[in-house]
Amino acid sequence: MQYQLNDIAAILQQPIQGQGNAVIQYLVTDSRNIVDATKSIFFAIKGPRRTGTSFIADLYQQGVRVFVIDEPIDTNEFKEGVFFAVPNTVKALQAIAAHHRTKFSIPVIGITGSNGKTIVKEWLYQLLQPDFNIVRSPRSYNSQIGVPISVWQMNEQHELGIFEVGISAKGEMQALAEVVQPTMGVFTNIGDAHNEGFASVAEKVAEKTKLFASASKIIIASDYIPFSLQTNAAIVSWGSKPQQSAGNLPPNLQLIAQYKENNSTQLVLKYQEEEFQLQVPFTDEASLQNLLTCVLVLLQLNYRISVIQQRVLQLTAVEMRMQLRRAINQSYLLNDSYSNDKISLSLALQFLKEQANQQPIIAIVSDIVDTGEPAEQLYQQVAQMLSSSGVKQLFAVGSEISNYFTQHASESFPFSIQLFANTQDVLHHLHETMFQQCYILLKGARKFAFEQLAHWLEQQVHQTIMEINLTAMVHNLKAYQSMLQPNTKLMAMVKAFGYGSGAGEVARRLQQQQVDYLTVAYADEGVTLRKAGIHLPIMVMSADEYSFDAMVNYSLEPELFSFQILNAFHQYITQQGLQQYPVHIKLNTGMNRLGFDAAEIAQLSNWLGNQQILRVKSVLSHLAASEDEKEDAFTQHQVSHFSKACTQIEAALGYGFIKHIANTAAIRRNPNWQFNMVRLGIGLYGADNVHQANLPLQTVATLKTTVAQVRALNAGETVSYNRSGVLKRNSIIATVRIGYADGYPRRMGNGVGKMYVKGSLAPTVGKICMDMCMIDVTDIPNVQPGDAVEIFGKHISIQEVAKAAETISYEIMTGISLRVKRVYIEE
Ligand SMILES: *Cc1c(COP(=O)(O)O)cnc(C)c1O
Repeated sequence: MQYQLNDIAAILQQPIQGQGNAVIQYLVTDSRNIVDATKSIFFAIKGPRRTGTSFIADLYQQGVRVFVIDEPIDTNEFKEGVFFAVPNTVKALQAIAAHHRTKFSIPVIGITGSNGKTIVKEWLYQLLQPDFNIVRSPRSYNSQIGVPISVWQMNEQHELGIFEVGISAKGEMQALAEVVQPTMGVFTNIGDAHNEGFASVAEKVAEKTKLFASASKIIIASDYIPFSLQTNAAIVSWGSKPQQSAGNLPPNLQLIAQYKENNSTQLVLKYQEEEFQLQVPFTDEASLQNLLTCVLVLLQLNYRISVIQQRVLQLTAVEMRMQLRRAINQSYLLNDSYSNDKISLSLALQFLKEQANQQPIIAIVSDIVDTGEPAEQLYQQVAQMLSSSGVKQLFAVGSEISNYFTQHASESFPFSIQLFANTQDVLHHLHETMFQQCYILLKGARKFAFEQLAHWLEQQVHQTIMEINLTAMVHNLKAYQSMLQPNTKLMAMVKAFGYGSGAGEVARRLQQQQVDYLTVAYADEGVTLRKAGIHLPIMVMSADEYSFDAMVNYSLEPELFSFQILNAFHQYITQQGLQQYPVHIKLNTGMNRLGFDAAEIAQLSNWLGNQQILRVKSVLSHLAASEDEKEDAFTQHQVSHFSKACTQIEAALGYGFIKHIANTAAIRRNPNWQFNMVRLGIGLYGADNVHQANLPLQTVATLKTTVAQVRALNAGETVSYNRSGVLKRNSIIATVRIGYADGYPRRMGNGVGKMYVKGSLAPTVGKICMDMCMIDVTDIPNVQPGDAVEIFGKHISIQEVAKAAETISYEIMTGISLRVKRVYIEE
């Protein structure tokens, strides 16, 4: 559906400023995500650290002409631009989506709750899509911006909408309720998570209930919502407690009993006096909870129990994250076949474009099914997305997408195209193709079973992997940014292979987040980053004479810490005929590692002031004990010495420079230590050593492996080298695929370390070997070869592992061996 500028003006109740006749098809809030610039309207939304309008020049360049703004800008710079000035751009976006929603009278299910929204939405989609043409939120699009973008997808062919809505503070729901206008509500549960924005759980429930203002029915899990809802809608509930459910009514769907088997659960249920059984392919509580919510929705839609029984068996687990994995021939694979719609395709392409740098991208894309959009229009947009993301090669799989490209064979696309009837043919072709160092996107509808391709493409090597969650890293970055004064710059420390996380991948994401500076320890690391496409300024901490060539060839900026290195670098730059080369001056204020001492500051100031060859970009020092309250007097002394020295150097130079001394702990602990830049290291990776309740960091790194073998042993037998692991009872012992050569410290043996398996912690038994170790799973039912084992991550923090190993999280992270595959996650 398309909107004229007049329509937009009427909805926003604002005049059109400028001349234009664009027809609007895309609502854009992210400048990286343009499909068709001429049909886009950009909402300039303020971020925590930047204005929304700062992107307008870039978008104008890309061809976007229509903008919604809520702060003044000089529109004369954009002669062909059309502007709508509104009080609030987010509200304007919501108003347009809300207007769009009113054009449709199809049933719409609105889902909210603390957990499970995305799973319930995806499962409802899986269960209902044989009968309805469904429009739904892509991924977990449930924010103030994600909800309107989701609803905007609705078109005349859709027969049912399923949208999820998440909020984090009072007063946020009303606007989203107007955007979604659900006819049926689903309230998954209410937890203690995200309580920050609410005075109480009751207040949170009341706010969320506002989503359902237009609904005639609300489906709830009464066991998990301990309040009666303030609503006129009919409450329909499922629960296990016959009497004490919401409003003290018995649940409409009662869970009478459940029997867990190996990989499935048998549920005994009662609905409208009828008892029936349901076999479901899951055993964990969260899945069962979400599943029963879905079952109740289907019952309310008058589905027969026999149909429900069948469809539930077909449900598959929902993978909500994008994973970039190593693949054959030094390639990377983004397998994103869980979702199959335009928005998720554009998100996947955006992620690949960021990560691929200049390497070729190959997209393997199947027919996109059940969109309700005419094929011509749909694949035209797909072709545009592929073009604007720099895709070099397209493998189009299936008849619809193949038809489109056959019919448009005479047009020129910036990528080569190969057509395949089915997945088998692609597989055949892959065997004969030599991929080298490319980025491969797999995007296939379920029925095309792209798993076969993924399986073939993925390098099946060592099964121990470290997952790096880039979305969580950005979350942590923002958490620290929110503590900075408005003009304080941020330098991100990516030394030591990004604290073990992977230098290029991490740096590319930081670059995309527009941090100001990156820092590495050695010039080699900087060269690697340049080769990975990083153009941010990079400081090198440990410069030496052998690295000067690389430094200059790759535009790296050395940290100079003694007269010896200062003279040497000055001489080198002079010989090269260069001037004003950017350098960083390191002062020693008490760490006693690198830097000019207090007694040298006068001489240093003179020296620097009398030359033009080097340009001082920044002066820095490093705190020795910023995390330690007991040492605050010492830290304060370091800070004031640093401040004085900077003043002295500045006076001698006659120009200003960036001053920085604060690392992660210092940022968090004292705003007066920020100067005009900070250096964020460990906090970025979610492993700041001090736990702080009001600093909710997310886990970035998860180290995982698998069980290789399981055996039963008798009391008195021993496990591993030297027979130090003596069993006190008859035990079940699992061998797992990680050892000290992977970076799991040897001192974690004999019960010092624990690993997370199937929901419980299992202690190590006996000595840790080079490539393997053993854990005691006697108390964990049914552990099997192939089961996943978490060494650190969400369930065991890296700090706990570090503590047990009597070290710090920095050493654990940087010690994970490079043979452990890094897998990059995007949520
Ligand atoms: C590693 C390092 C940092 C970062 O420290 P974190 O505690 O990880 O934030 C800052 N400055 C210097 C000089 C460093 O070597």
